[in-house]
Amino acid sequence: MDILVINCGSSSLKYQLINTETEEVLASGLCDRIGINDGKFHYKPKNGEKIVKNADLKDHEVAVKMVLETLVNKEFGIISSLNEIKAIGHRIVHGGEHFTHSAIINDEVIRHIQECSDLAPLHNPAHLLGINACKHLMPNTPMVAVFDTAFHQTMPPKAYIYGLPYEYYEKYKIRRYGFHGTSHSYVSKRTAEFLGIPLENSKIITCHLGNGSSICAIENGKSVDTSMGLTPLEGLVMGTRSGDIDPAIIDYIAQKENLSTAEITNILNKKSGVLGISGLSSDFRDLLAADEEGNLKARFAREVFAYHVAKYIGSYTAALKGVDAISFCAGVGENAKFIRGKIVSQLEFLGITLDEKANLETIGKEGIISTKDSKVKVCVIPTNEELVIARDTKELVSKMI
Ligand code: ADP
Repeated sequence: MDILVINCGSSSLKYQLINTETEEVLASGLCDRIGINDGKFHYKPKNGEKIVKNADLKDHEVAVKMVLETLVNKEFGIISSLNEIKAIGHRIVHGGEHFTHSAIINDEVIRHIQECSDLAPLHNPAHLLGINACKHLMPNTPMVAVFDTAFHQTMPPKAYIYGLPYEYYEKYKIRRYGFHGTSHSYVSKRTAEFLGIPLENSKIITCHLGNGSSICAIENGKSVDTSMGLTPLEGLVMGTRSGDIDPAIIDYIAQKENLSTAEITNILNKKSGVLGISGLSSDFRDLLAADEEGNLKARFAREVFAYHVAKYIGSYTAALKGVDAISFCAGVGENAKFIRGKIVSQLEFLGITLDEKANLETIGKEGIISTKDSKVKVCVIPTNEELVIARDTKELVSKMI
């Protein structure tokens, strides 16, 4: 079954056409700068050259139309008719408490996604634009919503309640939701498969370290705690996000710098993290290069990042009362060997030993980076959120037929 996976942002749309039998990506790409001038259309068919062209991407519907037209284009298309696309899977950031699993999109599901827009104002409205565009252009093709938050709905109340007046949870549903759920779900399952341990009897900590980063404690295949919260701002020090801070800092900065809370939230989201600490970049490749040239702030930012990851892993071993395996994924987790090395060496007290050679050699591929006699296995497992979306979409749509 060919499934179109769509990940819509406010000004971008990422897509992949995936064959769910072979799990092969038939084509992938990106529509960038939607609704802004200088739009760009990227398309890469399997076994073909990547195409990038300028495009007037007035809105999301124009972008989806361009994706569909390209997929069936006589010259470089990958399918002969749009009827070959059996379903569309949409990545949805926030499903609130309502969605514990992926769902076939209907009017009620759309209404619930809309209701969660307050909790994810930058994401959910954009996802709805993508859904509406697809609905208009492919009215007879079933669509499925796959939520970043759904995997974490198994967290117990003690893990998701904040130490705030309980009425805020009752009135406004203020609680920990967690994100990157499709990634944590995929990587934990794959870790168990890869190591040959039973998922239903396992304690795994997954570290999704990318531009945005989060950690998840997974017991017997179920998320029991995760570092992101009501929004993706909480938890680890990230590329541009602060992660955990003392909440009193907000009022303190507001007074000192004469800024509004909205302005400070923007700083916490976009100008903090390793970018804020280093004053240089949010990209770990830039920080490594600067560190090697003697830039002490770049070195410090990398140390702070690694320290916080190790600290969270330590606390999640307590949440899980032990740990069988720790897995790294996403841009930093899959590639940044020195950062991984720093994190793992901080965890030696758990009986974990790093296999230095394996760590240096495991870049962007699956592998075990702990020694044979390490008490806890440490793995690198490249994540694949699109594949999870395609699999869930196939499963739900197959039940309809
Ligand atoms: P996103 O959260 O946007 O999906 P990714 O998972 O693609 O992000 O991760 C992007 C980050 O991964 C980049 O900001 C960069 O810091 C880091 N990264 C990518 N490749 C490497 C590499 N070879 N070495 C170190 N860091 C890398």
